[in-house]
Amino acid sequence: MKLINLKWQQLILSLGCLLLIIACKSFYPTNKPDAVPLRVATDPTFVPFEIQKASGDLEGFDIDLMNALAQPAAGIAKVAGFAVQFENLPFDGMISTLQAKRVDAAISGITITAERLKTIAFSRPYFKAGLAIAVREDNQNIQDFNSLRGKKIAVQIGSTGADFAKTIPNAKISTFNSGPEFFQDLLNGNVDAVISDAFATLYAIKNGNLKGIRVVANLLTQEYYGIATPKDSPHLDAINKGIGILLSNGTYKQIYQKWFNADPPQLPNS
Ligand code: GLN
Repeated sequence: MKLINLKWQQLILSLGCLLLIIACKSFYPTNKPDAVPLRVATDPTFVPFEIQKASGDLEGFDIDLMNALAQPAAGIAKVAGFAVQFENLPFDGMISTLQAKRVDAAISGITITAERLKTIAFSRPYFKAGLAIAVREDNQNIQDFNSLRGKKIAVQIGSTGADFAKTIPNAKISTFNSGPEFFQDLLNGNVDAVISDAFATLYAIKNGNLKGIRVVANLLTQEYYGIATPKDSPHLDAINKGIGILLSNGTYKQIYQKWFNADPPQLPNS
């Protein structure tokens, strides 16, 4: 009888423990209820900011930065409590997709411009960039803005390079969906110059993917990239705080050195 009593006691005790564990779990869930994935659009044709590996995985400066923002160590997870879920999207459709709130944010080397600020919002600047002229290595005629007059120029649809090209008198502009395509046209001799983001072009030349092309030394513009969100995004404040944390705790510098082998320049706060 004593033995049976003991078994009952043990059973009740174990059941009690089980109930206690279940109760605790529902009070302190491992996945915080606000840890919903942040849908982040990117166009992985902009090397080295966003690259799609053969495996399908994404890598690049922007990808590292966005993932770092979601790390608890960056502090942003405490602020925002989000996990990042990347979605591939053509660059040209990014602004309208944000406007329609079909994604929560976009990181894709997107330049902060007054025109874009009319319809979407941007985080504080996270990268200092600029437009450059790319020509075939043997071309010595194109040196600056003035020498672009009347020339055949290739640009990416919807980019700041495309906007800039419109200001060149008598230029014949061809538009392309992504970087690799317009460089091919330059090499083929179909166009005289490409106007695109200096860092991406320089990176491709340096890493051997672009042979026979050089970048004219003087940049045409100074631009800053920002993480884009719909207007009045509930996430923008946390993203800004997170960028601030990554800038001051050395993570930003680490990511910059990894991709560009150089120390990052100073960035403005807004
Ligand atoms: N920085 C350029 C822009 O915002 C191009 C970016 C890109 O091609 N991903 O228009």
